[in-house]
Amino acid sequence: MFLDYDGVLTPIVSHPDLATLSIATREVLEDLATKTEVAIISGRDTTDVREKVGLNGVWYAGSHGFDIVGPDGAPADTETLGRFEQYVPALEAATDMIVTAVTGMPGVHVEPKRFAVAVHFREAEDGAESIIEGLVREIGDSDVRLVVTTGKKIFELRPAVEWDKGKALEWLIQRLEIDLESSIPIYLGDDVTDEDAFAVLIGSGIGIVVGRDGEPSRASYALEDTDEVRRLLARLAAEIEP
Ligand SMILES: [Mg+2]
Repeated sequence: MFLDYDGVLTPIVSHPDLATLSIATREVLEDLATKTEVAIISGRDTTDVREKVGLNGVWYAGSHGFDIVGPDGAPADTETLGRFEQYVPALEAATDMIVTAVTGMPGVHVEPKRFAVAVHFREAEDGAESIIEGLVREIGDSDVRLVVTTGKKIFELRPAVEWDKGKALEWLIQRLEIDLESSIPIYLGDDVTDEDAFAVLIGSGIGIVVGRDGEPSRASYALEDTDEVRRLLARLAAEIEP
């Protein structure tokens, strides 16, 4: 079971710090993790999402899958993931520039992560979006090591390397030695970055998009909201034989 965090396990809120996991959802996840492999694949920093979920026995892939830790909390240190380290100085420099530039802009929130830096503008004034987009694109265009991505009320800089939630999902399926003949990987996500993971599962698993109001998606199924997600997870947990 592969799960995005924001918009899937918790509703989208005005400030990312406010997206806390409900006790009911944590209990369902804990139960599920005793019966099957569970991995959270989030755009958040790994430390942040791990703290918010608060469970051992679960894999965490933060920064859109650039930073993966195992169920014991130890980094999944491999050649594949290790090569992302070289992008950290560029991201730190970009973070400093962004923080300096947006200081004093009300409602704009910078979220530094180990392998990305995000600028949130959900609470910002009208007109902030184009200013932030201009700023982030200028920094991204001036450094070949970085690329700009977007999501729900967010602009983000990431390493300019072919890696995304889909690649992280493939990596986890291999690492967990999931036999696709006898197992069905399921991925739940809500945002554009989750589409890469849905694409990976076409023909080999099940993609479920959450709260997208019938917009096009590569997922095979859709759920209305995070309450429906919790109910689905509870049903699966009840039916899976450990
Ligand atoms: Mg999400």
